[in-house]
Amino acid sequence: LHPDKDNFLDEDLSQDEQMRPQSFAEFAGQRKTLDNLEIFVAAAKNRNRALDHVLLHGPPGLGKTTLAHIIANELGVNCKLTSGPVLDKPGSLAGLLTNLEENDVLFIDEIHRLSPIVEEYLYSAMEDYKIDIMLDSGPNARSVQIGLNPFTLIGATTRSGMLTKPMLARFGIQSRLEYYSTELLRVIIERSAKVLGVPITSEAAEEIARRSRGTPRIANALLRRVRDFAEIKGNGSIEINITQFALNSLNVDEFGLDEMDNKIMRVMIENFSGRPVGITALATSLGENPETLEEVYEPFLIQQGFIIRTPRGREVTAKAYTHLNLKKPGTMGD
Ligand code: ADP
Repeated sequence: LHPDKDNFLDEDLSQDEQMRPQSFAEFAGQRKTLDNLEIFVAAAKNRNRALDHVLLHGPPGLGKTTLAHIIANELGVNCKLTSGPVLDKPGSLAGLLTNLEENDVLFIDEIHRLSPIVEEYLYSAMEDYKIDIMLDSGPNARSVQIGLNPFTLIGATTRSGMLTKPMLARFGIQSRLEYYSTELLRVIIERSAKVLGVPITSEAAEEIARRSRGTPRIANALLRRVRDFAEIKGNGSIEINITQFALNSLNVDEFGLDEMDNKIMRVMIENFSGRPVGITALATSLGENPETLEEVYEPFLIQQGFIIRTPRGREVTAKAYTHLNLKKPGTMGD
């Protein structure tokens, strides 16, 4: 199971929509981010102004899209969704921008993947709510400036390091989403189970939570799969035994680590003998790009104590050896 959206079926996606929290009150965790956002949203509403532009960053599946919807709901405005790779030319962005109503939210996912031309075009829209559009083509071509309704751009990125300085500077509000604790994920799973109408014990919810890689999207996906097992192999309610059976059948790691997580640690141990390694060298060995490694995978492995960062590079810990069932070189067998 990978936290990316692409792996999910349509049926899953529509259930995903049902499980999405709709208000600040329903959104679990991320307290610091929420406390601030609630104040900024209330202030914008009071003044009947568009909320300042918001940048949400952090690994996939932690609630960036959900928060964008919630902000729009709480502001009482529409939320238009798009993504960096979809906005391939200024014309498609202009179409979206000119259709925004006053104080609407425009959500751009994967904003680090905007082309430089589109990004440049976005600057004046964000700053002065104005854009230039081309009229005619060929010898008659001319551009006119048109005004837009005030709006809030909410950008989401897994890779804040990939954003240009001028882009970053245009977001008045910037928040980083953190991985969720097992306790918070348990709360999220119990709420989702209620939405799905399936009974679950708190022991079972906690077991799923522990194996969800700190990520609500994974927690919800595992919950649906375990529910399938409970319906077909059990009595329909989710209890600890059927949960453990299901998670083992699904090959879900007891720490919720995915294939890439395990591969990273294995390469650090086998190719680099467990010695400190630089992110670029590691990325090359894995055939991954260094920023993805650093911003999507590494934070969870560090948070869970499988990897540490030292001045000389990344290093696997004893926990990683134990997890992979490998012996640390130089240690005597027992
Ligand atoms: P991102 O945009 O960061 O990749 P999403 O906002 O799409 O993540 O969240 C993935 C799923 O996880 C959503 O469908 C939502 O149901 C669930 N989710 C995310 N954050 C929370 C939260 N704090 N509380 C409850 N459910 C959440």
